[in-house]
Amino acid sequence: MDTRAFKRSLHHSERYNRRGFGLGEEVAGSLQTAYQSDLIASLRESGHTLREGRLTVKLAEAFGFCWGVERAVAMAYETRRHYPNERIWITNEIIHNPSVNDHLRDMDVLFIPVEGGVKDFSEVASGDVVILPAFGATVQEMQLLNERGCHMVDTTCPWVSKVWNTVEKHKKHAFTSIIHGKVKHEETLATSSFAGTYLVVLDLVEAQMVCDYILSSAAGASPAAARRQEFMERFSKASSPGFDPDRDLIHVGVANQTTMLKSETEQIGRLFERTMMERFGPAKLNEHFLAFNTICDATQERQDAMFSLVDEPLDLMVVIGGYNSSNTTHLQEIAISRGIRSFHIDTPERIGPGNRIVHKPLGADLAVVEPFLPEGPIRVGITSGASTPDRVVDDVIRRLIELSKD
Ligand code: SF4
Repeated sequence: MDTRAFKRSLHHSERYNRRGFGLGEEVAGSLQTAYQSDLIASLRESGHTLREGRLTVKLAEAFGFCWGVERAVAMAYETRRHYPNERIWITNEIIHNPSVNDHLRDMDVLFIPVEGGVKDFSEVASGDVVILPAFGATVQEMQLLNERGCHMVDTTCPWVSKVWNTVEKHKKHAFTSIIHGKVKHEETLATSSFAGTYLVVLDLVEAQMVCDYILSSAAGASPAAARRQEFMERFSKASSPGFDPDRDLIHVGVANQTTMLKSETEQIGRLFERTMMERFGPAKLNEHFLAFNTICDATQERQDAMFSLVDEPLDLMVVIGGYNSSNTTHLQEIAISRGIRSFHIDTPERIGPGNRIVHKPLGADLAVVEPFLPEGPIRVGITSGASTPDRVVDDVIRRLIELSKD
């Protein structure tokens, strides 16, 4: 499919909206009540530190709702106002935050059901309104909704669209897109749907495997069949149909899921640049490698703030955000890498009753820790992912204050 032409025609369609409905003032009150917090607003203005009895809370300098998420949530509220009687669907969670998605359910926004990992659009009818979430939707989903005669409200963050433009550029120049991301994450699924030939690498280890493969075929020597088979087994579910590592790793460009660990994305970009230089020589680098810059500002700011926060003397960290939120998980990784006891929770209710917390250790199932807060003076660092409203952070802080009094 010519994805560029499809997007262009969609942008001219009267059934497609990506700018909202100009109802910002009308929905501002509901958004304020649901998501904002006076406590957090005053903490932002007074050094991000709160002292209450034996508890000191230190908030990261940058945390919580990013611009793209605020925009997407506001557009969803505007959509409900603009279409008070129509059936409204959303193709996925609008953002990875349980409380925000619950609010949308309360507003009678329906979520496309998922059976065995596959979305079921059979109930969606002509004339229905469908919201596309902040991290986008695949081009195939958009095509299906368009053909069915739905109204689409596209809240895809412009930063994500920028990544799509990058992979379109790769496709135009017949370069393979190396996408640093999680292969099943909605944003990466959407990005790969706009790419031509692509390969998704999760981390530096996988990127190194790909680069080793590229170098092993230097000087025209074909890699051994076993090596090729090993490569295909590893990446068969993370590459475009018909991907051939001997043919498709000659010209590569790098793009990324916007919420990956910034430092790792940069390392992966440099690794591929070095590899292509070694394989084809510095003079031919531009023929074989396309530079990239698709790291989102908000992700970068939150990670930078986290690196500063973990340099401070802390007894423990609480990282707040959806368990399927990529950017939140990376904040947790930063704390763990510094050897700080860090607790990732998705809702304030994970704290208590009593001195206990239910949290998600990295890469593991939920675990209970009791006692949670140690005795004596205690310094707690707090941050939250880009999908977490201030009101949730407020609630967590109030629960910590209560606990510290016991
Ligand atoms: S984290 Fe970045 S890419 Fe994602 S919605 Fe926020 S601003 Fe957009």
